This record gives sequence, structure tokens and C-alpha cells, in this order.
Amino acid sequence: MERIGTEREAISLLSMALPRPPAGETWLGDDAAVLSGQGDASLLLATDSLVAGVHFDLRWSSLADVGWKALTANVSDIAAMGGEPVAAVVAVAGATVADLEHLYSGLVDAAATYRCPVVGGDLSAASELVVSVAVLGSTREAGPVLRSGARVGDSLLVTGVLGRAAAGMRSLRGDARRGGELETAHRRPVARLAHGRAAALSGASAMIDVSDGLAIDLDRLALASGVGVELTEVPVAAGATLGDALGGGEDYELVFAARDLKRVNEHFAAADLPLPLEIGTCTADASSRLLFGEEMPVSGYEHFLG
Ligand SMILES: [Mg+2]
Repeated sequence: MERIGTEREAISLLSMALPRPPAGETWLGDDAAVLSGQGDASLLLATDSLVAGVHFDLRWSSLADVGWKALTANVSDIAAMGGEPVAAVVAVAGATVADLEHLYSGLVDAAATYRCPVVGGDLSAASELVVSVAVLGSTREAGPVLRSGARVGDSLLVTGVLGRAAAGMRSLRGDARRGGELETAHRRPVARLAHGRAAALSGASAMIDVSDGLAIDLDRLALASGVGVELTEVPVAAGATLGDALGGGEDYELVFAARDLKRVNEHFAAADLPLPLEIGTCTADASSRLLFGEEMPVSGYEHFLG
């Protein structure tokens, strides 16, 4: 099989293969596709697959955890647009009936937590277990917040400390000291729906969820917006390293750009959420990625290496 390369190259190839979206819609290249809804509302549509041996290892996660994570990853993409989930469908390949029962116990827990019912799906045979979820969402009072709206001079903020999932993974593998809370963060991450909504309401100009690692996800936001980034703070979770925080991924915190920090704090406080942490600014040199004044390595988990 021909090596396709990075996810970015694959997306640009697919953008050429597909027709252009109508005005007001965004198809490829954001956390979720944005489609015209009724009135001012937009519909959001996202999908994500978890593949055994690639995205999860049943030595460290139960099938119920995999079900939880599959829905969480999708709902997080809706959160990253400032939207609300409506419903999900789930396609499972390569599962036995007993597998399905365990998988769905986690899916149903997540569906209740996010108020995102699983309303259908598909089953098929396969040699590996693959769980694919598609979620429909919508925007209400605010949003959608794309990746592409950040402007030079905007502050960059993150909704919580980073590196918990990666540190939890090391702990589960036994290469680090045990940490119950970190292991839970790896097995049962939580999508930041209320945070995404507060960010959208407070005028966030761009937003993305930290699914692959702060450095690579911030690079995606910067590329889409045509700005550089300069990080002056990285909030590292207790028990995690700076490397976990920058490159670990699967934390599902949200990173967003905003101009009016007072307004941001007011909206987060009004929603009873911890205030987001300021980590840096958007700069004019679009190719620049600085961390503490030095060039930042853009690491992270690159899913698409064909
Ligand atoms: Mg995303």
C-alpha cells in the first residue's frame, strides 16, 4: 500500500476529491462538519473510530471503557465547536455478543452523562475490534466556533490541566507510580461540553479539543487560523510530565483563542466552571511555534500514517 503520509496531507487530498461546501458550511478540516440548520442554528456532524491495537489495548482498558471513550471522543468534537450533542449512531466490527454487552455498558453510561442517546448503528464481522461512532450536534445561542478564527493578539486558553491521560497510561502499564485518578483519566476521560459552550458564549474566536496532544492540536488551530503561537505557560497535571502535557493527548480539554478575558471569566464563573488558564498568545508570524521563548517541537499522536 502506498504511504499516504500525514493526516493533513490526507485531508487536503480528500478536499480536492469532494465538492466544495455551500456558503456558510464547513465540511472537512474542523472538529466537526458544520451544516446549515433551521434559522440561525447549525447542525454539527462528527465521527471517530477506535481500533483495537491502535487506539486501545484491552490489557489497560475494559470494553466498557472503550465504549465510554468512543462516545466521549465524538462528543468532545461537538464540545470543541461550542455545540450540544443530539444523538449518536455506533458501528461495531469484530465483536462477539459478550463483547457487545460490555462495550454497550460503557456507551450507555456515556450517553446518559452527555445526554446523547445512541439511536442506531451497524454490526459486522472483522478480524479486529473496531468501534466507530458518529454524533449529530447542534449550536444554540452561540457558535459554531471553528479552528480558523483566531487573530493576532488573541489570548490562548485551556480549560484544565494537561497530561493526565498519558500519565495514567504509564501508570496502568506499570512504568510509573500508581495513580488512581490519573488511571481513571485515561480510562474514562470526560468531554468538556459546558466549557465549550461557555467559551462560545464568551466570544471565543477559535477552538479545538486536545485529542492528540496540546502541541499538535494547537498547531492545527494555528494553521487553520493563519497565526503563530507563543506559549508562556503549560498547566501540567500533578503526576504528569511536560512531555505528557504537550504530546500525550486524550485529555479532551479544550484550547481556545479569545480577546476579552474578563468576558471569558464571567461566562465560566456564571456556568460554575473553573476559570480557564491562559497559556499564551496568537502571534503574527504564522510559521512560529514558541514554547517559553524557544521553538516548540510539534509532537503528539499522529493517527494517520498510512
Ligand atoms: Mg477534535
